[in-house]
Amino acid sequence: MRKSVALSIIVLGLFLLFMEGCCLPLLAQSKPVTGMVFWAKDAGTPSQRFDLAKQSTPELIAFMRRMPKGADLHNHVSGASYSELILARAENIKENNKGLNYDVYANAFTDMPPNKKNIISIQELKNNPAFLAQFLNAASMRGWFPNTTNGHDHFFAAFGCFSSGKGKPEEIIPEIWARSRYENLQYLELMVQCVPDDVSKKADDKLKDFDMDKLEEMFEKIAPLTKDQAIEESIRQYLNEREKKILEETDLDYAITGNDGDLVIRYIVQVKRNGTPKDFFKEAVLSIWAVNIDNRIVGLNVVAPEDDPASQKNFDDQMKILDFLWNKMGKPKFTLHAGELAIRESPVEAMKNRIRDTIEKGHALRIGHGVSIGWEMNVAGLLKKMREQGILVEICLSSNEGILDVKDKDHPFLFYRRAGVPVSINTDDEGVNRSNLTMEFVKAIQRYDLNYDDVKELIRNSLEYSFLPGNSLFENRDYNRIIPEFKEVRSQEWKAGPTAEALRKANPKMNRQVILERALVEFEKSLLNGFEEQYEAPF
Ligand SMILES: [Zn+2]
Repeated sequence: MRKSVALSIIVLGLFLLFMEGCCLPLLAQSKPVTGMVFWAKDAGTPSQRFDLAKQSTPELIAFMRRMPKGADLHNHVSGASYSELILARAENIKENNKGLNYDVYANAFTDMPPNKKNIISIQELKNNPAFLAQFLNAASMRGWFPNTTNGHDHFFAAFGCFSSGKGKPEEIIPEIWARSRYENLQYLELMVQCVPDDVSKKADDKLKDFDMDKLEEMFEKIAPLTKDQAIEESIRQYLNEREKKILEETDLDYAITGNDGDLVIRYIVQVKRNGTPKDFFKEAVLSIWAVNIDNRIVGLNVVAPEDDPASQKNFDDQMKILDFLWNKMGKPKFTLHAGELAIRESPVEAMKNRIRDTIEKGHALRIGHGVSIGWEMNVAGLLKKMREQGILVEICLSSNEGILDVKDKDHPFLFYRRAGVPVSINTDDEGVNRSNLTMEFVKAIQRYDLNYDDVKELIRNSLEYSFLPGNSLFENRDYNRIIPEFKEVRSQEWKAGPTAEALRKANPKMNRQVILERALVEFEKSLLNGFEEQYEAPF
């Protein structure tokens, strides 16, 4: 009898232990209380509040819009403007006393005068709902929803439409800046032209008999340009002029050249990949030179559709050129579009080694998109290399959905995460995609069921893998290991001592990371204190 009582007690004990083992994780992961907004007094920790915000898209937008998001590392200035703002600017253009009008057949702005047929004034375009809708749809992916036509074709046709509105970087950058401030970004790496056209023309003349097999000789021909002080000055002047115009128009008092302030901007110089090898060589030499002489430019990228016939044909030559110049010109930092391909837009032949070659031959420290990773030869070895070397993938969800029809499980976002490869969330072309960094996070969170810690990791990745110079705030890219001088940076009362201040000054990357950590502290404080916001319009 006693034995059976003892046995019963043991069985009961085991049962309770089992129940505890089963239920505790369930309780910990259980859905938060519904019927409560995420800033309610009793809504719990920031992480539990994040789970509450995931209950609906507007709540998640409200949460993520104000969460500090670090950097957007993949943002083309040319595709960042919203069509409504392109239209507003086009209306004010006056060149040779002529304004712009709109050709409704060609879906493009023109300086031809209005006629009774296809050319209308911008005023008429704005006042006619059908024409206005036609423009807004053609100038962005707005017209692609519902997606009944090819997104790739619609996307690239949009550039032809809106670029006829003659938007200039100095007009679009303040637009990006204001939007990014509203969304609590701390840093932007913007892809934009950094070498003036006349410098490019001078280089053209030097390379008349371009020969891919004699790169050393070709370099010697173009090298005198890179030693010409006057040309060097003209590149700096080109960026100074742009900056001056931006500063005249806005209150961007420190954003571009400085290291302080809530949000700073650096440039990524771009080289077109859909031209001839000669053009690519010329642009790459000048662009790397620009990176080396002006610290507003932190790296180089290659742009234009990767599936373009010239891009496909010349890929090997382009990697050979980048390899040659990287060794020749001081190992500059490259982030390169690679694997922005899917079987619908590309034969498998191009996808079998695109990402690997871009890293191994092209010396990319970061990869843009990386969608075609599944088709890579020795994918296990490649992902191991990317994990070990810290090659980050700049993920652009809306862009991949629109251009390649790749989303949800068709996208390699979780594949990279499971393989331990660092990733960041980016916009690519926020205006064309009718998106922004907040929405890109919302998409990632909803599609891949990310938790609060996942989101913080993605945000911290964007600064850790940025091309800002200087040391990191973290040891071995481990966000739990803050360097000793900043151990308390995540506490409410932290204030930088003299050593920490000196370190921040000497290391722009660390400085930005400290600014992000402090912004996260402030954000979490506001979550626990009612989430009210001081309204200060950044637009
Ligand atoms: Zn891109």
